Amino acid sequence: MAATIIDGKQIAATIKEEVRSGTERLWGDRGVRPGLGFILVGDNAASQSYVRSKGKACGELGFFSVTEQLPGTTSEEDLLTLIRAWNADPALHGILVQLPLPKQINEQRVIEAIDPRKDVDGFHPVNVGRLVIGLDCLRPCTPAGIQEMLVRSGNDPRGKHVVVVGRSNIVGKPVANILLQKAAGANAVVTVAHTGAQDIARYTRDADVVIAAIGRAEAITGDMLKPGCVVIDVGINRIPDPSTKTGSRMVGDVHFLSASAVASAISPVPGGVGPVTIAMLMRNTLLAAERLTEGLP
Ligand code: NAP
Repeated sequence: MAATIIDGKQIAATIKEEVRSGTERLWGDRGVRPGLGFILVGDNAASQSYVRSKGKACGELGFFSVTEQLPGTTSEEDLLTLIRAWNADPALHGILVQLPLPKQINEQRVIEAIDPRKDVDGFHPVNVGRLVIGLDCLRPCTPAGIQEMLVRSGNDPRGKHVVVVGRSNIVGKPVANILLQKAAGANAVVTVAHTGAQDIARYTRDADVVIAAIGRAEAITGDMLKPGCVVIDVGINRIPDPSTKTGSRMVGDVHFLSASAVASAISPVPGGVGPVTIAMLMRNTLLAAERLTEGLP
């Protein structure tokens, strides 16, 4: 069986088109342009590249955006002062502090300093709590994007057994919470596996949908999957490859060749979850702009 590809680029393009229409509507009705502020601390190359891609998407969609590049030696207090200023800035509807942060800065304190209404990453405890109890909120971009990928590719998770491998606060826990809600595009039976499990395959072999968010190159192989299942590969890993110019290439947490011979549908890396995550960030920023403009909590 050759799996259908769940094309993240195409899904992202559709979501961005929807965001573009919403942006034009907000401008026409209220004269408001969504604004997103990025804060980068230090010179981590991957973080710089992520912020560049997100800033480019803002430009494409007609958003206002600003990037504050701070030195790696920045104190926590200075960062918190900037966040407080941006919380009060009416031109900014979203604030994104690119993680990871240098050791002298407490990430959780930074996350909690962002006004939850501008928390477009969806990491603030107010948004996390609202997500868990099924209330409207800004949802984290990668997990919300995974739900979009399933639904838009015709693989509605309703009634399916979804196995999430990984329990991070950024991907594993929120995607499990999104998919178990009694709501459209969800209502799945969800299992979350992690390093505490003795045999991951015992769970993945029973899954109708496998979501791999592990951070280990090609850890999920075809023999660990049920024939016909759907696979969403969240992983971004670099492995050595002397045949390429750079000497390395990007792979996911799933071994694509063996998995795509067993699954009915699979998302590739690159070109899967990554582009959809950026599109969802744009959607969150538009949503934040609409809600702030309406004076909603
Ligand atoms: P993370 O914080 O490192 O969490 C990894 C999770 O996987 C942990 O819960 C860990 O378990 C579990 N795990 C690790 N090794 C395992 C194993 N051998 N068996 C079972 N579980 C295992 O990573 P993350 O932030 O969730 O990210 C996961 C991957 O997705 C990374 O490759 C990351 O780069 C990628 N990612 C991509 C995007 C995107 O936009 N495409 C966004 C975010 C993340 P314990 O909790 O027990 O340690």
